[in-house]
Amino acid sequence: MRLIFLGPPGAGKGTQAARVAEHYKLSHIATGDMLRRALELRTELGLKAKPFMEKGQLVPDELTIPMFVERIGEQDAQKGFILDGFPRNVEQAELLDQVLDEMGAQLDKVLKFMVLGIELVARLSGRRFCPVCKSVYHLVKQPPKIEGFCDKDGAALEQRPDDNEEAILERLEVYGEKTKPLFDFYAGRGLLVDVDAIGSTDVVFGRLLSAIDR
Ligand code: ADP
Ligand code: AMP
Repeated sequence: MRLIFLGPPGAGKGTQAARVAEHYKLSHIATGDMLRRALELRTELGLKAKPFMEKGQLVPDELTIPMFVERIGEQDAQKGFILDGFPRNVEQAELLDQVLDEMGAQLDKVLKFMVLGIELVARLSGRRFCPVCKSVYHLVKQPPKIEGFCDKDGAALEQRPDDNEEAILERLEVYGEKTKPLFDFYAGRGLLVDVDAIGSTDVVFGRLLSAIDR
């Protein structure tokens, strides 16, 4: 199965992609995670991407596209995948079409996460993550068992540098301008399925499974 999780920053794509990927035994391909990892390792890609990520802008296609093409060609992606954070503009969606054609593969569904703007700002500003295992928490909505520390490995939780007010507003703006045109792109092919992403993570997970299995 090949799925895209499409939705604004903070909609819960990463949280749900981890669970849905586990459920169907798919690879979870998250371009934001890949770029952050490149930055941690201080690779040339990571260092070039850094200023764009910090400001909340899209990293240029000449950097993201080769990274994505390499990742989707890896062995584990052949069993099926969830794309989380890619494509983010029409050029990336067209590239994905080409890559899938070459693989002789097709997309099954594009799940559109529907969340209101005010909720997104609350989710993003309270987001915390574990620097070791990358688990995602929220100060209020998904708190860890011990405040400030990861449930899985006890590491001190951190805040993403782009989860500040200025970068959040920029990311929402960029989403509206560059990513929203993908609704029509995929709706035109009958692939787009709306999913109400407001509610507990368990409730949203249940909605996703029924939308996928329908
Ligand atoms: P995205 O990958 O779409 O940017 P995340 O999965 O990182 O979003 O979630 C953003 C924030 O919202 C995180 O702090 C996460 O804990 C929280 N979150 C995720 N799903 C829900 C939900 N259903 N209700 C409330 N908060 C949520
Ligand atoms: P995310 O983890 O999905 O919120 O992505 C974090 C940041 O990484 C984004 O704000 C962009 O700067 C960058 N990024 C992630 N995926 C892409 C992509 N497909 N195209 C361009 N930039 C991306």
